[in-house]
Amino acid sequence: MKKLFVLLLAIVQFSFFTGCAPLYEIRGESPLLDANLTRFLHQWREDTVRPIAEGDYANIYLRGNGAKGKTLALTFDDSPDENNTDKVLDILKHYGIKASFFMIGSPMVESNATVTKRAFDEGHLVLNHSFNHPHFTKLTHEEITQELQTASARIENVTGCAPRFFRPPYGAINQQVMDTLNAQGYITLLWSLDSLDWAIKDKDAIIENVTTHIQPGDILLMHSSRSNHASVEALPQIIERLQNRGYRFQRLDEMLEMKAYR
Ligand SMILES: [Zn+2]
Repeated sequence: MKKLFVLLLAIVQFSFFTGCAPLYEIRGESPLLDANLTRFLHQWREDTVRPIAEGDYANIYLRGNGAKGKTLALTFDDSPDENNTDKVLDILKHYGIKASFFMIGSPMVESNATVTKRAFDEGHLVLNHSFNHPHFTKLTHEEITQELQTASARIENVTGCAPRFFRPPYGAINQQVMDTLNAQGYITLLWSLDSLDWAIKDKDAIIENVTTHIQPGDILLMHSSRSNHASVEALPQIIERLQNRGYRFQRLDEMLEMKAYR
């Protein structure tokens, strides 16, 4: 009992002195989420984080190292689309910030290929988020492989770089998904702070959630697809408020000190 107390005290002191949140935690709350969705989300977070914390999965990250100061990685999922992705890129350009985009392969044609190339050319990461955005936990090994390879080929065709970083649609993973990703040399990125922009289509609630729950080293989940105009509206204030609090924005490869491409 005494040993347990000493251990707990050491953990509390370590957290206090390094100023960092636990490595294995996904945050993000809003009073606008209904009770059922909140319950579902908490259960999903618990079920997702547990095997990662217990070391069951290799090459997967929720966040960067909070002990390295007030850094933050902005990540945008589900682009390209011809409207909101361009707007997000305009905002990032205005503030001189580099971000990471997890893009879907299937819409990456014509004007959507143009905005993909623009994101890459302006110094953002263009990363793999599957070809059709399915739940990978419902697919066979062969289907997962097909999703990864077709998306990667399309991204490489547009940008010239095949991604090494991958984010599973809906954050849906299990042992088979992780084994397939690892066999193909992917690094899997989840997130430690959910802006909840996919659920709460309210600019002020998104800003409030992000600025209240942010911790150094966070990987922030946002979306830049067609239905996410509230994220676009929230983004300038999120950037300004966090910059005023001393946060620096990093790409995922800078934050994790790993190569994003093959
Ligand atoms: Zn997605």
